[in-house]
Amino acid sequence: MNRSWQITLMRNGVLLLLLLCTRSWAETFELHTSVQQQPLASYLYYYQDSENLLNIADIKNLPENAWQHNNRQAFNHGYNDATWWLRISISNQEAWKLDRLLEISYPVLDYLSVYILGNNQQQTLHLGDKLPFDQRPINHRNFVMPLQWEPNETLTVYLSVRSSSSIQVPITLWEEQSFFNHDRTQTLIHGVYYGIMFVMVVYNLFVYLAVGERNYLYYVLFVCSMPLFLASLSGFAFQYLWPDATRWNDQAILVTLSAAVAFGSLFTHNFLRLYELKSPIRYAGFVCAGGAGIIMIMALLLPYNIVIRTLIPFAGVVCCYGFSSGVFRWYSGGLSAKYYTIAWSSLLGGGIILAFSKYNLLPKNLFTDYATQIGSALEVTLLSFALAERINQERRMRFEAQQDALNTERELRHAREQALEIQKQATESLEHRVQERTIELEQLNKKLEELSDTDQLTGLKNRRFLDRVLEEEYARCSRYQHSMALLLMDIDHFKHFNDTYGHLIGDECLREVAQAIRKGLRWPSDRPTRYGGEEFCVLLPETAVEGALTVAERIRECVASMEFKVKNQSVPVTVSIGLMVTVPTTDNDCADMLAKADEALYQSKANGRNRVTLYCVDSDKLSAAPVPASSSQPPHK
Ligand code: GH3
Ligand code: MG
Ligand code: MG
Repeated sequence: MNRSWQITLMRNGVLLLLLLCTRSWAETFELHTSVQQQPLASYLYYYQDSENLLNIADIKNLPENAWQHNNRQAFNHGYNDATWWLRISISNQEAWKLDRLLEISYPVLDYLSVYILGNNQQQTLHLGDKLPFDQRPINHRNFVMPLQWEPNETLTVYLSVRSSSSIQVPITLWEEQSFFNHDRTQTLIHGVYYGIMFVMVVYNLFVYLAVGERNYLYYVLFVCSMPLFLASLSGFAFQYLWPDATRWNDQAILVTLSAAVAFGSLFTHNFLRLYELKSPIRYAGFVCAGGAGIIMIMALLLPYNIVIRTLIPFAGVVCCYGFSSGVFRWYSGGLSAKYYTIAWSSLLGGGIILAFSKYNLLPKNLFTDYATQIGSALEVTLLSFALAERINQERRMRFEAQQDALNTERELRHAREQALEIQKQATESLEHRVQERTIELEQLNKKLEELSDTDQLTGLKNRRFLDRVLEEEYARCSRYQHSMALLLMDIDHFKHFNDTYGHLIGDECLREVAQAIRKGLRWPSDRPTRYGGEEFCVLLPETAVEGALTVAERIRECVASMEFKVKNQSVPVTVSIGLMVTVPTTDNDCADMLAKADEALYQSKANGRNRVTLYCVDSDKLSAAPVPASSSQPPHK
């Protein structure tokens, strides 16, 4: 009983297993006319040939249980050297022929052989990016092959995949029109992305050439590398740029990604001014760029799968470096650092979204498919803003510095003007003072001259003055042939006067006589002088004999009639006058004129004093004026 139960159980188990096997073998995709687009990952069966020994014949003969069903939404087996055999069955459920396209949208697979087995057909295609692009049945960046079904026919498709890239086989069945409609949209999105990148590169390259700022150069190189990397990854570069360069096609992914990492690090280092930091972090940018440079060289020498496994974690580290540097600089201020951080986050975000969608953590749609392109375009645009902001910031700083310099210069100019004004005022005041002093000095000189020409006792001009004026007057009258007269007078018996009344009274007398002489003169041009001692002289310009005699007589009278009192007693004072009148010629001169006047004076003395004697030029004789009534005897005797 117990044993029969066991047998029943075993039989049931085998039946269940058989059922499961049958079920799994029954996982054939049933194709109807209505099927436009069908992901086939869940219909895949796979076998891993780790030793790379089997061919299609061996594969066809594999026992059914050697095949494994791919239960996941995607077929993804990471990096390995195995050959992966995939099998899929698609049966035409219609009673007519059907055409479809089979697309494997992972264009970096190295080797992809496709064996199509039908009722009456057998077709083999060798694809993969290790073969020239033109070998593909359909000119497309992804692997696309046409499939045809006879009515109710079932096609079994074997795929042999080997690649140094990760083993991914995103497989989709397309109705042709749907495929090309879908492809147009995809191409348009790519076109927009590369267009944005192209514009950014060209624009910023021109900015770099114009401004010469190194940030722009790094930016341009970074922006060149990113789309080239994505174009290599998406198969566009192989399709359009290097369709025959099968070796380079693998390397291009590594080289362009390394370049993006290198220039991204240099840009980060330079843009965020990390070189200003004191800590060793300031060298991180160079380390990252150097590392990326080494990986770039490795990419040209070593197998793809070794290099890519170094490059991807390294790129991740550099992304963290770039992102954390941005966050760090965000806090230390500056709008450009904020732009930078947001830009970097958008690239990171794009990468994360793509990875999540690949592992089915996010739904697969246009947005998640193109998350990297969107992130990268956003990043590049935002970085361009950040650069513009940096330039703005620097321009503001330069402007402020210029304003400061201008203000300083203005202040300096103002100070200089003030100094000049003060100097000018000082000069003016000095000039003014000098002028004042000069005038004062001139006045003093004039005074001094006057003093030196003036007799201190009488206030009349002195002999020095007479000598000068006489000479001038003589020359003038000689030029115009005018007459001039010279009166020489001497106080009579003055020695006796002095002896009698003393010198002080004598001096007083001299002053009174001078006053009397002044009184006797009418014209301002007449020049009375004290000739010396008790002798006086009067120069009468423009005066002929008659006038001169009148003046001499008037002076004589003025002196004689003055009342000079000594101790209330009137003391008579008289003068004797010698007169010389002449129209000067070159023959005679001043000294001669004085001598002749003196001669006439002597004659007056000789004739009894208190009188005027004229020296007559024509007869060269002396003619006495009428003798005055007063006595010529000294009254004080
Ligand atoms: P005469 O009539 O012949 O001229 O007789 P006199 O006494 O005036 O003779 P003389 O000309 O020789 O005398 C001049 C005197 O005048 C001599 C001197 O005592 C006096 N005398 C000359 N100069 C001054 C002076 O400045 N002040 C005073 N008080 N006396 C003077
Ligand atoms: Mg005398
Ligand atoms: Mg005398």
